[in-house]
Amino acid sequence: QQGQLIQSEKMASLGQMVAGVAHEINTPLGYASSNVEIVRESMQAMDGTVDAESIAEFDMLLADTEYGLTQIAELVMSLKDFSRVDRSQSQLFDINEGIETALKICNSQLKDGVNVTRMFAELPQINCAPSQFNQVFLNLITNAAQAMDGKGQICIRTSLHENDVEVAISDTGSGMDEETRAHIFEPFFTTKPVGKGTGLGLSIVFRIIEDHGGSIRVESELGKGTEFFIRLPVAGVNKASDSFLEQDVVLTGD
Ligand code: ADP
Repeated sequence: QQGQLIQSEKMASLGQMVAGVAHEINTPLGYASSNVEIVRESMQAMDGTVDAESIAEFDMLLADTEYGLTQIAELVMSLKDFSRVDRSQSQLFDINEGIETALKICNSQLKDGVNVTRMFAELPQINCAPSQFNQVFLNLITNAAQAMDGKGQICIRTSLHENDVEVAISDTGSGMDEETRAHIFEPFFTTKPVGKGTGLGLSIVFRIIEDHGGSIRVESELGKGTEFFIRLPVAGVNKASDSFLEQDVVLTGD
């Protein structure tokens, strides 16, 4: 319990720091991007007065710079998602319907070789911000799809456990070893090659679930697959979660 609370506090102060960093990066990113645009326009005006080879070289340098700036902008967006604590959008929410909506959004991530099965129980509503639920779902499905390399089974099950609704998402992908599993919720932890993963997906998932008074845990076996279990309190039962008072967060690695 103590360890879980420390994890929770760490995530909160990290969130504040990350929000600060994202803000600080945004200002120079803004003027760097607009400077690139100005240079590009000036170059077009110079066309004919400077030799074609130099123009081509400058063009390439500019394209490289623009690509780099786009990557930084994407990272800043993820950092902002990570630190956002947006509870204003919370509403009564039907998890099964929410899953269907989220599945439509992430359909493009799923190749033809990926089969999605649903096992939905009849459930009471929860209190949740739909956009944040979509984000949780998108991150988990994207990871599952990447772990399966375009071929395999994703199974989504919902069930009721006393005052909690559970969503279980399993995949038949690569699975994880114990060392990996122990770190997956940490910001910037990734096993993916540079450019493929920022390592922020599951830490964002963790924060959103935490903000909703829920918990997340994972079971995984190397070579077999992975299953994530999310629990969220039923609306009206857990007063603390409805009013978003301080919550204990359960983070388990097994
Ligand atoms: P990213 O996807 O950018 O690497 P995440 O925080 O979403 O960041 O995931 C962290 C790491 O957790 C991944 O790099 C991967 O090693 C592992 N992981 C997450 N989901 C799965 C999964 N479904 N199957 C296997 N490994 C996973």
